[in-house]
Amino acid sequence: MTQPCIFCEIAAGRMDAEIVHQDERVVAFRDIHPQAPTHVLIIPRKHIVSMLEIGDDDAPLIGHMHVTAKNLAQTLGLAQRGYRSIFNCGQDAGQTVWHIHLHLMGGRSMGWPPW
Ligand code: IMP
Repeated sequence: MTQPCIFCEIAAGRMDAEIVHQDERVVAFRDIHPQAPTHVLIIPRKHIVSMLEIGDDDAPLIGHMHVTAKNLAQTLGLAQRGYRSIFNCGQDAGQTVWHIHLHLMGGRSMGWPPW
């Protein structure tokens, strides 16, 4: 039997998460292993395995994820000093959960490039 997608389980409310925002298209919750003082994941309710799988029809959804990141950056106090938003896509980028998620990170200074 295949394992259920953990992010689909969170979106459906069947798995615990510290949710900071949800609407009809996306759910945002705190990362279980935060890499910054504020580290939130924004996921679509729609199951999409990786950013390689998005189509033209998904453009409004991906845009909504970025607008949600900006709104959360403001409500979570990141707007003044800035924040980073990242999609990891595939093995070399370090993707470990196969349901797309936009990392929203802030609350500390960050370097570039991210190794
Ligand atoms: P990725 O490496 O870009 O795929 O990021 C996956 C992220 O999901 C990592 O930062 C994990 O810490 C996070 N994560 C995995 N499982 C959970 C969970 O059950 N709740 C919240 N965050 C999770």
